[in-house]
Amino acid sequence: MLNKTDDQNADAAPGMGADPLHPCGQLVQTHLIEIFKEKYRIPLITSSILSVIVVVLLRNAVDWNLLAGWLVVLNVSNFARLVYFARIAGRPSDHGNLLHFANRYTIAVALNGLLWGLAGVLFFPPDMPEYQVFLAFVIGGLVAGAAANYAAWLPAFYAHTVPSVVPLAIRFMTEGREVSVAMGIILLLFTMAVYVIARNSNNSYRHMAELQVGRSLLIKRLEQANRAKTEFLSSMSHELRTPLNSILGFGQLLCDAAVEVPREKQFRFAGQIVKSGQHLLDLIERVLELSKAETGRLQLKLEPVSITDIIGDCVGMMTAEAKERKIALFNELGATDLPLAFADRARTRQVLLNLISNGIKYNRDGGIVTLTAEEAAGAAALRIVVRDTGSGIPAAKWDQLFEPFNRLGREAGEIKGTGIGLTISKQIVEQMNGRIGFESSEGQGSEFWIELPRAPDDD
Ligand code: ADP
Repeated sequence: MLNKTDDQNADAAPGMGADPLHPCGQLVQTHLIEIFKEKYRIPLITSSILSVIVVVLLRNAVDWNLLAGWLVVLNVSNFARLVYFARIAGRPSDHGNLLHFANRYTIAVALNGLLWGLAGVLFFPPDMPEYQVFLAFVIGGLVAGAAANYAAWLPAFYAHTVPSVVPLAIRFMTEGREVSVAMGIILLLFTMAVYVIARNSNNSYRHMAELQVGRSLLIKRLEQANRAKTEFLSSMSHELRTPLNSILGFGQLLCDAAVEVPREKQFRFAGQIVKSGQHLLDLIERVLELSKAETGRLQLKLEPVSITDIIGDCVGMMTAEAKERKIALFNELGATDLPLAFADRARTRQVLLNLISNGIKYNRDGGIVTLTAEEAAGAAALRIVVRDTGSGIPAAKWDQLFEPFNRLGREAGEIKGTGIGLTISKQIVEQMNGRIGFESSEGQGSEFWIELPRAPDDD
């Protein structure tokens, strides 16, 4: 079974971009690659223009065939890059396509960096310091350009910088003269400084992308909450109307002087009115309870309580309902004595009754619901588990399970409910300093658990 605790439902917070495997990290990465993609033509054009300037300027200092060959290879590869990436840049901007673009582009950048690195070594005129300085300027300038263009996607910055700068720096340092060694060191220092700038820009881009992702998640959540409230109001009005109609119908029959109602029928009608009134009251109480739970106004009496007793009570209370649904309800704990928990007895019972009731409601005919409990968290807590053999919960809906009014698509189904039970349970358990979680496997069943702190020992 796959596992999920309510802690894991926590919103992606600062630093969500750190892990690209996290769905939010993936969204941040998508934003970053989009920024990177916007500028993919600029470095190609710059590289081509600079290559022509280099060849023209060095024509008297370096072998012409070497220069021409390099110029052709660099520009053909640049042109091929332009055509290839124009084609794949047009694909839909989903994460997979963007990552494919970024990875391929990084490889192309590395090749281009290598060609510039080769220029640094092959065109290095040993006795002409002015040309050496010129080469250093060109390669350094390209590094600065890489920082500006590739800051959103640092792998491309590294792919350009390392193969283009390192060969020239080595060439300077092996030249032997003091000034050349100094030039090599300066080139490396300059590259490091540019690297720091690129990293800072990357952090800013990342922060911006995180804010943007956070904002769209928030908007999505607000829209969801709004939709859920609207759905809840409409389902509530439906739920309220049914008992109200029944009360009015039977009440009118009793009031209508023109209709002679036999005495025993009058009792039956009155009984129906009382039943419907009770149901109405239940509904209203649940809604009030939710509002109290959400605002932390629940009255709790925390004291040492016996989990064994509470489970026994709950199983006793739910046996009839289980039988009606042809579900076998087992108390695996039996009379086993566990350490006492520090909790509110009635609220713990309420949470367990909700979990058992769900285990029965969302089970199959002839299914099983099992209750058990054990020590947990290194004996600092007690864990109560309610296991069922029902329909399970699809992994895609796990995040919504504790959301108020969310019935995970069962709104139109036959099984009655309001979608508030688990929300209230979570609030109650947390206010008792406990935790709630679940494991579920679609088609096989679910296992809901709560953990309550252990009561302090007497002595
Ligand atoms: P309700 O049962 O009134 O709809 P809950 O808050 O108790 O509200 O549960 C929310 C939703 O979670 C349910 O509508 C159901 O879709 C799903 N759910 C809860 N418990 C289970 C379970 N044991 N097995 C399968 N689905 C469940």
